[in-house]
Amino acid sequence: MRISLLLAGVLWCFTFVLDTVTAAEQYLVREGRAEAEIVIDPAAQRSTRLAAQELQHYLKKISGAKLEIVTETTAKVPVKVLIGASKEAEKRGVTTAGLKAGAYRIVAGDNWLAMLGDDTNFVPIEPWPRNHRDLASGKVQTAWNAITGEHWGYPHSQLYKHYTGSTGLFGTPNEQLVDKTGQVNVWGFDERGSFNAVCGYLRGLGVRWYLPGELGEVIPRQNTIPLPAIDETVQPDFPLRTINFRLGVYGRDAAMWAMRLGVRQPYGRQAAHGLDHMTHNTETLEKHPEWFALYGGKRDTQPGKRLNQLCYSNEELFQQTVRYVRAQFDHFDMDVVSVMPPDGYTAICQCEHCAGKDTPDRGYRGAFSDYVWEFVNRVAKEVRKTHPDRKISNCAYGTYTLPPEKIDRLEPNVQVIIVGGRRPTSADREELRQLRDAWVKKTANPIIIFENYPFTGRGFYLPAFIPHVLGESINETKGISKGEDIWLTMDFGENAIGYNHFLIYFTARMYWGEKTRMWMTCSTNTVICFTDLLLRKCIPSFFTVKNTGVRWRKRPRRPVAHWSCFLSRKRK
Ligand SMILES: [Zn+2]
Repeated sequence: MRISLLLAGVLWCFTFVLDTVTAAEQYLVREGRAEAEIVIDPAAQRSTRLAAQELQHYLKKISGAKLEIVTETTAKVPVKVLIGASKEAEKRGVTTAGLKAGAYRIVAGDNWLAMLGDDTNFVPIEPWPRNHRDLASGKVQTAWNAITGEHWGYPHSQLYKHYTGSTGLFGTPNEQLVDKTGQVNVWGFDERGSFNAVCGYLRGLGVRWYLPGELGEVIPRQNTIPLPAIDETVQPDFPLRTINFRLGVYGRDAAMWAMRLGVRQPYGRQAAHGLDHMTHNTETLEKHPEWFALYGGKRDTQPGKRLNQLCYSNEELFQQTVRYVRAQFDHFDMDVVSVMPPDGYTAICQCEHCAGKDTPDRGYRGAFSDYVWEFVNRVAKEVRKTHPDRKISNCAYGTYTLPPEKIDRLEPNVQVIIVGGRRPTSADREELRQLRDAWVKKTANPIIIFENYPFTGRGFYLPAFIPHVLGESINETKGISKGEDIWLTMDFGENAIGYNHFLIYFTARMYWGEKTRMWMTCSTNTVICFTDLLLRKCIPSFFTVKNTGVRWRKRPRRPVAHWSCFLSRKRK
C-alpha cells in the first residue's frame, strides 16, 4: 500500500510534462541537441541574467543539451527563448506591463518562447555598511547622524547580508558580477519576475527543489523538449513572501533554493521594534531621560540594559518619532517604517500622564492595546500630512496584540502586522480567526502576518509535516493579507532547518497557489514526493540495512538529529 502511494506520488510529480501541447515541429532540444538559444537584453538586469543561467543549467541537466546565452539573436538555431524584458520581446508584443511583485508571463509564438516579469535591480542607498566592521566602528552611524543631526539608531544594519557577492566591491569598477563558479551575484531585494517565470516553466517540465542543493532536486530526464504552445500569466497570492533567507548568509545553495521557491522580500519595509532602533543608544538615554518609562520613581535609562521602555505620553518623543519616520522616508526611500515599542514590554510607564491609560481588565494581550496603538495612530496622522503615500507599521504583539477599543478605524497609513496571526502549530484555530477578523475591521489596509516557525537551532521541535493546517491557514488569509514575514532558524547545520524544509517548501508554494485549487490533493502529493526523495536520496546514505534491521551508518549527535544528518552529508 505504502509503495503504491509513493509510486502514485512520484508519477504525479512528473505528469506535468505529458500534457504540454506542442507547436508545429519546433523544439528547444531535439534528441539531445540544442535547437534554441537563450536571448537576453544587452543591458539585462542582474536577476534576468541569473534567470537565463538557471534555464541553461536545468535544460542541460534534463536533456544534456546546452543552450547558448546571447544578447543578439543568431542564425545558428531556429528557436529563440527570450528571458526578461528586451527589444526582441517587445518586437513580439511581449512586455512586463502589469507584472508586479514577482508575477510572470510565459508565452510562445511560432519559433520563440518568452519568459519574463519585473527584474528591477535594487540600488542600496548610502550610507550602508559593507560588513560588520562598518557598524562596529561607528562609521555608518556617524554618517547617519551627520544627515539627521540626531542620534537615532542607524536603521539598515543588516543590509549587507542580503547580497550574494562581495559587498566591499559592490558598486566599484571591480564589482564581482559573478561568483567563483560563474553564477550571477544578486541582492535579495532585486525583483525576480523572469527568474520566477523560468522556475515556473521548469516546474512544468517536472523539476522540483525540495531542499537546498542537488540533494533536494528532482530532475526528469528528457532527450527532446518541444516548444510549448503556451500563454500563461501567473500572479502570486501575496506580494510579500518573506522567509528570512538572507542571501549572503547561508550559502549559495540556500540562496538559490529561496529564489526557486519564489519568496520575495522587498526593500523598504520595517516590521519589528522600530522605536528600540531609534532610542536605544547612549546619547538618547543620557540626553532624553524623559522619553523613557518611569518605574519606581526612576526613568528606565540604565545603560547596558538590553531593553529600555518608553513613555508614550511624552510629547517630545512623539515629535521626534515623527521626524525619525520622515527622515527614513526621505533619505532611505522607505515605504513602511516601524514605530513598534521595544521588545519585552510588560509594564506601563508610571508617570502621571500615563496613569490609567492601560486596560488590564482586557487581559495580558489587550492590557496596553489602546495605550500603544493610540500613539501609533497619532504618529501616522501627523506623518500623513507630508507623506500620504507611505506607511508606518506596528505589530499586534504581546501586551498590545488585541485591537484597540477606543479607535474605531486606524489612520489609512497604518500597517498592522499580526505576530502569530496564523500559527500553524496551534490547536486553537478559531481564536486566530477571531483575532484576524477583529483587526481587519480596524484597518482599510491588508494586514501582514508575522510568524515564528520552529527555531530548531534552539534545540527543540521535531520534523513536522502539517500541510493541511499550513494550507488551510494560508488560504484563510488570502484576500485580507498582504503576505507574510516568517522567521526560523536558518543555519543549515546540524540543528537547524533540516527539520523545517517541508514547512518552508510548502508554505512558499502556497503563496503561489490559488484559493480554489485542490490544495488538499496537492499537499498530499507533495508530502509523498518529499518523503520519496528522502527515502531514495537521503536516508540510504545514513542507514545500512542488516539482518537485524536498520542501523545508522553515521551516528547522529543528538537522538532526533537524523534529519539534520542528511543535510550536512554533502559538505563532507
Ligand atoms: Zn509616561
